[in-house]
Formats: sequence, structure tokens, C-alpha cells
Amino acid sequence: MVNFDFSEEHIMFRDMVHDFAMNELKPIAGQLDREARFPVEIISKMKDLGLLGINTPEQYGGSGLDELGLILAIEELAKVCASTAITIAVHHSVVQNPIKVFGTEEQKNTYLRALASGEYLGAFALTEPNAGSDAASIAMTAVRDADSYLLNGTKTFITNGGVAGLVLVAAVTAKRDSKKEISLFLVERDTPGFQVGKKEDKMGLRASNTVELIFENCRVPASNMLGREGEGLKILLSTLSISRIGVAAQSLGLARAALGAALSYAQERQQFNQPLAHFQAIQFMVADMATEIEAAALLTYRAAVLKDQGKRVDKESSMAKLFASEMVQRVVSSALQIHGGYGYIKEYDVERFYRDARVMSIYEGTSEIQRIVISRALMRN
Ligand SMILES: Cc1cc2nc3c(=O)[nH]c(=O)nc-3n(C[C@H](O)[C@H](O)[C@H](O)COP(=O)(O)OP(=O)(O)OC[C@H]3O[C@@H](n4cnc5c(N)ncnc54)[C@H](O)[C@@H]3O)c2cc1C
Repeated sequence: MVNFDFSEEHIMFRDMVHDFAMNELKPIAGQLDREARFPVEIISKMKDLGLLGINTPEQYGGSGLDELGLILAIEELAKVCASTAITIAVHHSVVQNPIKVFGTEEQKNTYLRALASGEYLGAFALTEPNAGSDAASIAMTAVRDADSYLLNGTKTFITNGGVAGLVLVAAVTAKRDSKKEISLFLVERDTPGFQVGKKEDKMGLRASNTVELIFENCRVPASNMLGREGEGLKILLSTLSISRIGVAAQSLGLARAALGAALSYAQERQQFNQPLAHFQAIQFMVADMATEIEAAALLTYRAAVLKDQGKRVDKESSMAKLFASEMVQRVVSSALQIHGGYGYIKEYDVERFYRDARVMSIYEGTSEIQRIVISRALMRN
């Protein structure tokens, strides 16, 4: 049966995040972008509201919602500040989620609890200077030494990397038949040999923290391995197959914000003695924007609901991510066009939306990689 209604619980939760985003984040989002400042105070308020462990079970200190709950929260945050949306998405989707599924009871009690309570913010370190789309080609090594591993290498473009208390790190533990075996490690921030490198000066998402991480003989207890040795790639692929729904939700929220700004502007701005909204060219633009947004919303919510039903969602989450992340770029471009020259000026939110949208089709797998995932799933069927 197809049900397009959210539950009472989801609506109440979404409204709570919406109010928080409007009251606390919206007033400062533009300033955060201009100053490229990570909003520590916002994260602290989210911690107090239980918004740092949204879909982590109450047993481990989380709020116990499902994937759809997380997706709705990410969308609401992205409507006002896409930087905060990615910060929260990463903290949940690529750090808490894999610990929830693959962690030992001890790891869940220690790390999942610390993340869900907001004691630690989480980061996920896979990408390296020479390994992006080709994740299996990472060079970072983890060599077993008694009851620990020594990590050596450099990670790049790591969201939350400079502010995280815990980083989930991918490293090569062995090479078999010229194939690298990858394993995952939970690395605490104050571990000797772990160092935060340069902060990236980004085009958009300027209030999110994106840094290089350097590991030099960083000694991590063997008990901090997530999953078994050599299982890393499998865990990464399964994690990304769900986290991509979160990027679709970021795109969706941002696109809704851009449409809202365009609708307001078109009704206020007068040219040729009438509002822009009276011109059919503008009407058609907003009609297309709204239609594309609804299509992306259906793909995004469907992927989240299927995940909550325990179904395999690699194809569905890639479709949602591919479509929503490309849709948002068309929508922000149209929104800027409707603003005319003012859209190009920093005083207007659409200028920020335009820059923030660009990366959605790049991180957590580019559009090209999503097409590979989708076509492989189609051939498999
Ligand atoms: C703001 C930001 C935040 C990020 N956060 C994180 C994070 O928290 N953790 C993390 O680990 N990484 C993070 N990343 C890295 C991100 O996931 C990578 O940038 C992304 O996976 C692409 O890798 P790349 O940049 O090395 O591009 P490349 O892999 O070098 O790709 C370059 C181009 O070639 C294309 N291409 C590559 N291979 C193929 C192929 N087989 N077929 C067709 N086309 C192909 C790509 O689609 C792309 O268009 C972040 C990046 C950014 C910009």
C-alpha cells in the first residue's frame, strides 16, 4: 500500500526541528557563511534538544527515531543552513549508523553513547589526496603491533574533522593477491599521532568544518576496530548506501528554501508596472522548480521508508541522491535568475544557496558514481 502521510510522531519531531532551525539558526546562517565559522553554540543547543542522536536507540542515549526521522531533520536544517545540515548528517549517517550496525557492545556503550549524547561530534575519514571515487585505492596503512594498530597516512576533505571527538578512519591492513584489504578504526581525538591539518577554504558550506587529517604512528587499540579485519570496504559500501539518502535530504531542504525565496521575491519585485510573478516565464520557472522538488521528495522519503522496513536500498538511495543533488542545482540557478542582479549579491540568501548546492552532486559519491551503482543494481536484477 502506498501511504504518503507522515506519522504523528514524525510530524511533531519535524516541527520541533523546524522551529529550532527558524528561531536559532536562520538569524545567523548568513553571518556564519560570511565568517566561515563553525557554530559551536548551535551544536550545543542541538545537544540539549536530543538532536545529536536522532536515530540512535534510547538504550545508547539516543532519541530512538528511525531513518525517516533523521531525514526530516536534515531537510529542515538544510532549509536554513546547509552547512549545519551536513555537519549533523555526517555525525549520524556515516559515524553513528555504522557503529550501531557493526559495533561491539563495548563500542556501542562507549562511543555510540558519547556521540548520541553530543559529548563527541563524529567524523568519517575515507578520502585521501589520491583516492576519492576509487575508495578501494586508499594508501593509509594500519599495521598490527601487539594489541594495537599503528596508523599512518593523510585524509583529505574530512567534514567535522577539526571539531570531532571521534573519527571513523579507513586504512589498509593487508594486501592479498594485489588487492588491498581495508579495515575501519574508531580514533579518539586526543590519540597521540593524530593531528588536524589545513582547513579547506570552500566555495560553499562555509560554516561546515572541512579539514585534512594527518596520522603519524597513531596507535589505536585493536579493540577500536569496527567490524572484523578486512571487512572495511563492505561496511563502507553498506554505510554509504544509506547515508546518501541524507545528501538527498540536504538537497531537498536547500531546494525548498530557494523556491521559497524565489516565490517571495517574484511577488514583491515590480518591473513593467507589475510583479515579476505576473510574467508567464517566471510562473513556468517556479512550476518546474516545485515539480522537480516534489519528485525528489518522493524518491528521498521512499528510500528512507524502505530502509526503515529493513529492505536493501543501495539503488533507491543512489537514485534519490543523484536526482535530488542535480535537481537542487537547477532549482538554485532558477531562483537566482528570478532574483536578477540581486541574486548575485551576498545580501540575498540565494547567493549562498547557489554556492552551497554545488557540492551535493560531488560528496558521498559523485553523480557518475551514483549512476554506476544504479546501473549495476539494474543489471543484477
Ligand atoms: C565539502 C566536502 C566535504 C567532504 N566530506 C568528506 C568526508 O567527511 N569524508 C570523506 O571521506 N570524504 C569527504 N569528501 C570527499 C568526497 O567524498 C570526494 O570529493 C568525492 O568522493 C569525489 O572524489 P574526488 O574529489 O577525489 O574526485 P575524483 O574521484 O578524482 O573524480 C573526479 C571526476 O572524475 C569522475 N570519475 C571518477 N571515477 C569515475 C568513473 N569510474 N567513471 C566515471 N567518472 C568517474 C568523478 O565523477 C568526478 O567527476 C568531501 C568533499 C567535499 C568537497
